[in-house]
Amino acid sequence: MKFNFKYKKLVSVSISLFVLIFVFYKTTVEHIDIIYTNDLHGRLNILPKIEYYINQKNLDRGRLLLLDAGDFIQGTPESDFFKGESMVELFNAISYTAAVVGNHEFDFGEDNLVKLAQKAKFCFLGSNICDINDNLKPYITNYVVKNVGSVRAGIFGLLTKQARFIIAPQHIKNVEFKDEILTAKNVVDELVNQKVQLIICVSHMGYDEKKRPSEIVNDVLLAKEVPDIDIIIGGHTHRTYRKYIGKTLIVQTGAYGEKFGHLRISVFKPIKKVFRIKNRFISTNKLKDGETLQKIVKKYVAEVSKIFDNPVGFLETDLPHYRDKESPLGNFICDIMVQTARTDFAVTNSGGIRGSLNRGELRYRDIYNICPFDNTIVKTKLTGKDIKEIFEHSVSGKYGILQVSKEVKVVYNLKEPLGSRVKELYIKGKPVVENQIYSVTTNSFLASGGEGYHWFSKISLDDTHIKVRDVIKEHIQTRKVIKEKPQPGRIILLLE
Ligand SMILES: [Zn+2]
Repeated sequence: MKFNFKYKKLVSVSISLFVLIFVFYKTTVEHIDIIYTNDLHGRLNILPKIEYYINQKNLDRGRLLLLDAGDFIQGTPESDFFKGESMVELFNAISYTAAVVGNHEFDFGEDNLVKLAQKAKFCFLGSNICDINDNLKPYITNYVVKNVGSVRAGIFGLLTKQARFIIAPQHIKNVEFKDEILTAKNVVDELVNQKVQLIICVSHMGYDEKKRPSEIVNDVLLAKEVPDIDIIIGGHTHRTYRKYIGKTLIVQTGAYGEKFGHLRISVFKPIKKVFRIKNRFISTNKLKDGETLQKIVKKYVAEVSKIFDNPVGFLETDLPHYRDKESPLGNFICDIMVQTARTDFAVTNSGGIRGSLNRGELRYRDIYNICPFDNTIVKTKLTGKDIKEIFEHSVSGKYGILQVSKEVKVVYNLKEPLGSRVKELYIKGKPVVENQIYSVTTNSFLASGGEGYHWFSKISLDDTHIKVRDVIKEHIQTRKVIKEKPQPGRIILLLE
């Protein structure tokens, strides 16, 4: 009897304690959410899925931030035909908070970027983006402070300084990209002065352990140098990761909206202290579409499908693309370029080809997807000496390898130091002669100095104003059926 009484008392005390803790937790702990994307590259169809997810999870809009880490336009007809306006309309409709300006946001020029920023109801961020004549800067914010639940969050954006070399030079004539780390330190100091409780950086610098040379600033370096940042949401490198450097959480969610990220942040309300951050990657392939945004997407799809969904021809073989070695699709495109311009040979950058062509019926959309940039065919002249330097630059490791037409054979030894990796170089079966002049076809991006190729304009430059993707389309259209892969064996990579 005595024992039973004690036992009952213990149970009731435990229950009261539990209820007390529960009530204490409920009244003192708050959750805030961040949904984030990066490198959507014009995938309009992903946004209705995010709408569906937010509704399904019943996320409280007052405690939700929607952030994008750049390169949201450029890459599909539905985005590019409208120069990114369709993406901005969708971001507006789902109430994005902010997006950092990625390198591809410059692809339709500075004035178009201003237009997009004017249309946007969210912030265009870019603390290290400066322009000389103040055309851009009023529309690109250094940082934004938002109340989310009971927390003041400071959000800022960074774009890799490498943007200087990967954006077509005519689009950034008046633009300067300042040092990322120095800029971040200054912005974070300002945010700390403003007494924010959460510092978030949307960073179009990204991180890639294997491929990025160490001198390029990346998200890991940023976290080490500026440890007051709580969360870095990365983009640009198209990788998926979640890692801690000190107390800073770094995340990125691949590319093309195959996934998006959901951060749930727990805050101890009495002192507004973040004490836990949970990250989840959400696959979009099985998510349904939210109705409001799906209506907007349908409008744009209908408008472009008249142009982009007509059949162009038939491929009987796969034409895959690789950025770090000779690719059948690179060969195919260079052969068409040299045929069009009738020069000694052609080269094109691997990064300008955005995917592979698969066997089967081809529509203009498929060609568009692999060549979304408005690059044109350019004829130029180069000395043998410059050609050698160009091929050395091609294996300097910062960008992908140059793809070449069938007239070229190049042997590289990747174990040799930079600047002496070209071991053999032939044009039309003959070794390249240093002081001889050769005629060359390339695209307007490389011709204008993109990826650091400054050689192409040294002697002459003749822009045909014919788009690369249009000659590919015509080539396939006139042949109707493409039977086999172009002749291989143009680029030999030695590793010893
Ligand atoms: Zn990028």
